Amino acid sequence: MAKTLLDKVWDAHTVTELPSGQTQLFIGLHLVHEVTSPQAFQMLRELKLPVLYPDRTVATVDHIIPTHTQVRPFDDEQAETMMREIERNCRDFGIRLFDRSTGNQGIVHVIGPELGLTQPGLTIACGDSHTSTHGAFGNVAFGIGTSQVRDVLASQCLAIKKPKLRRIEVGGTLPPGVYAKDVILHIIRMLGVKGGVGYAYEYAGAVLDRMSMEERMTVCNMSIEAGARCGYVNPDQTTYDYLGGRPLAPQQGAFERAVAWWQSMASEPGAGYDDVARLDGSSLSPVVTWGINPGQAIGVDESIPRADSFPADEREVAEDAYGYMDLRPGTPIAGTRIDVAFIGSCTNGRLSDLREAARVAKLGKVKSHVKAIVVPGSQEVARQAEAEGLDEVFRASGFEWRLPGCSMCLAMNPDKLVGRQVCASSSNRNFKGRQGSPSGRTLLMSPAMVAAAAIEGAVSDVRRILEGTGR
Ligand code: SF4
Repeated sequence: MAKTLLDKVWDAHTVTELPSGQTQLFIGLHLVHEVTSPQAFQMLRELKLPVLYPDRTVATVDHIIPTHTQVRPFDDEQAETMMREIERNCRDFGIRLFDRSTGNQGIVHVIGPELGLTQPGLTIACGDSHTSTHGAFGNVAFGIGTSQVRDVLASQCLAIKKPKLRRIEVGGTLPPGVYAKDVILHIIRMLGVKGGVGYAYEYAGAVLDRMSMEERMTVCNMSIEAGARCGYVNPDQTTYDYLGGRPLAPQQGAFERAVAWWQSMASEPGAGYDDVARLDGSSLSPVVTWGINPGQAIGVDESIPRADSFPADEREVAEDAYGYMDLRPGTPIAGTRIDVAFIGSCTNGRLSDLREAARVAKLGKVKSHVKAIVVPGSQEVARQAEAEGLDEVFRASGFEWRLPGCSMCLAMNPDKLVGRQVCASSSNRNFKGRQGSPSGRTLLMSPAMVAAAAIEGAVSDVRRILEGTGR
């Protein structure tokens, strides 16, 4: 019988079926960062247990690391303590830590793929919701909580229920000015923030086939915002080309053998799905969120929807969003004034994101009332961007060019909104207070749209700005 990638990866990693109905699943790669790991390591110490597979465990620092200067000790004592903790834990338990001195520090979901650690056919876990990013390579990757981090450190296994599978086919061709971020925001708008509960999402179709790995990562990254346990794209030549030559990917002869195995893990024609959803990528516009979850999103050419346009069970959250965001239904989203522009995060902090944003930034100056920052996802992204002169393009336009980290995505570091500020953000969550101020407001959009908002001082249609530039 034809199988999906989910079936194959799950079967290959099943240790046993548990009486609870869950699977004891072997985890091929465990990614660790400084925020969700300290308690897990402490529990291991108390239980006098080692890390079972230190060579399958890799750590970095991203959430708390400041982006204006990374000179130690950090000004923030708590950040310095967390930094020392992860250094001690990695030293004591024999885990490889990609800190700044390695030249490969960055957001955990940026450096895994960059180093070639993220590969097809794996199971990947990390104490972070956006672990779904790695699914872009054709694997099963999901976020876990701190007690599960402990379980994986100690046993390399997790007790987990196999999700159902929904295939999402995006056909057609994306119009100019419409990006991977718009595709996933549209999917979440269409299927809802709870639409994926109990599911894994398999993304497919002509649009996904043509996407680069970085674009596929953007799509898979936000699977969790759609409620899905994980999301993936079947591996293909684009995947193998990206991985070839990466420092921690299989090398030389081993690479060809790996490709043969990776190919064998892809979903087969005729495989069964629990559900299939389709959309036409040709009809999409740049998308902007207007509310307090990523499903409250509209095309930049639309107006804030009225409460009665939502199903009954979504009206209350719509009313809540109007009040919190201070946006009136029926008002066009374009023209909404912004105070801050943030380009970065594990959704959109990669080189291709910065290139697209720089293309727009080059066309104008950041408005004087806007604070605009660009935060590369990793040291490698920063190096490549600087080699191309993107940092200079951003600086000339009025953006600040920062050091790598999660920055204002979650604001567990000095990069925070202040008061009721409105932020055009290329990150993934627009929840109340997400960017550091309890009353701060977030509008999610693509990096190019953030750059457009920065130079116009308000939400703007990047297609208009790019008109006549060949994009
Ligand atoms: S960039 Fe944001 S979503 Fe991604 S790992 Fe960091 S805090 Fe989490």
